[in-house]
Amino acid sequence: MPGKKSQKSRASKDGGRSQKTSKMICTECNQEMNQHAEKLVDPTSSEEAARIDPVLGGIVAEVHACPECGHSGSRRAS
Ligand SMILES: [Zn+2]
Repeated sequence: MPGKKSQKSRASKDGGRSQKTSKMICTECNQEMNQHAEKLVDPTSSEEAARIDPVLGGIVAEVHACPECGHSGSRRAS
């Protein structure tokens, strides 16, 4: 008499750790920083000058602030 096999093959679904937007990390206390604003900055290189937003007339930079120590930083968007 064959035994009833009830082994289900389960697909593990814990690999979904894709982060769309990577957060800036505070250089002071290594906390994740929150983006709170965007600002226009002047390009500092010819490479950036080529990416000027024609509508805005500058490079868009994200402004991030640390919730822990209040340290703020900015980086180029996209
Ligand atoms: Zn901090």
